[in-house]
Amino acid sequence: MKLLAWARVFALAFFVLVAAVPAAAQEQKRIALSFDDVPRFPGAFMTPDERTIALIQALKEAGVKQAAFFVTSGNLEQDYGRNGEARIRAYVDAGHVIANHSFSHTHLSDSTVADYVADLDKTEAWLKGRPGRRPWYRFPYLDEGHDIERRDAVRAALRERGLTNGYVTVDAYDWAIDDLARKAVTDKREINLRALGDFYAETVVKAADFYDGLARETLGRSPAHVLLLHETDLNALFIEDVVAALQADGWQIIPIDEAYADPIAQIEPDTLVLGGGRVSALAVVAGRRPADVFFERNDEAVLARLFEQRVIVKGGQ
Ligand SMILES: [Zn+2]
Repeated sequence: MKLLAWARVFALAFFVLVAAVPAAAQEQKRIALSFDDVPRFPGAFMTPDERTIALIQALKEAGVKQAAFFVTSGNLEQDYGRNGEARIRAYVDAGHVIANHSFSHTHLSDSTVADYVADLDKTEAWLKGRPGRRPWYRFPYLDEGHDIERRDAVRAALRERGLTNGYVTVDAYDWAIDDLARKAVTDKREINLRALGDFYAETVVKAADFYDGLARETLGRSPAHVLLLHETDLNALFIEDVVAALQADGWQIIPIDEAYADPIAQIEPDTLVLGGGRVSALAVVAGRRPADVFFERNDEAVLARLFEQRVIVKGGQ
């Protein structure tokens, strides 16, 4: 009798455990790619024109059918932005889409709402009528305002313009790794390119899994993710390795249109912890501590240390 009672408890516990494994555990991990600051300043390895050609080819080889390129139209007025319009058109001709990343790439926290909105309107005017244009606004620095007044005023301005937030859910600080590589080349330090590719791809995969884990814990499901990247030489060199590493880890690469059709696109998280992307914001809204919602390598000092250990070739000097 006693044994039977225990058996029942175990049976019940087993049932509860199995039932409690969320459907999310079996869900396919999905992620779309997005590239910011287009046309971006030059890197250490190629010209901006070479970079665009290489990036388009690499995305094609990797089977990425539709990524987003977020345009900072003020960059077109810089020296390095010469021919930038043709490069942007080349991305669209290759099947990718374009959206707004402001004119002058400023912090909302350092701007008045009027200046900030006038700035994004300039890029919206540039985008108007162009093929491949999507009604999305990506906040520079993911800075959506450090006070509720500015946050909500810009949210309202976007709504009035028919724009939605071109949020990210996964940030791997690719720009910081590109910075480290550029600095090493400038300083004439020898880097191991194979090690750089491995380190970079590993960082993206770990970031994606971190933010997906956070989503499953706090939303109870795996959303369609959006990976934040930049139009860098690093990506022109290694995006195929990144995609291969994601796929080996069980990720499926999806079109950006599919990612922004996820229900989390409709939510405006009621928090000021917005700089880690939408999943971290929603995790904070769900009660997670802000300190726990950022991937550990979203830290320039951590990346610099790992870069030194793994990518810099130790000379005999
Ligand atoms: Zn940017």
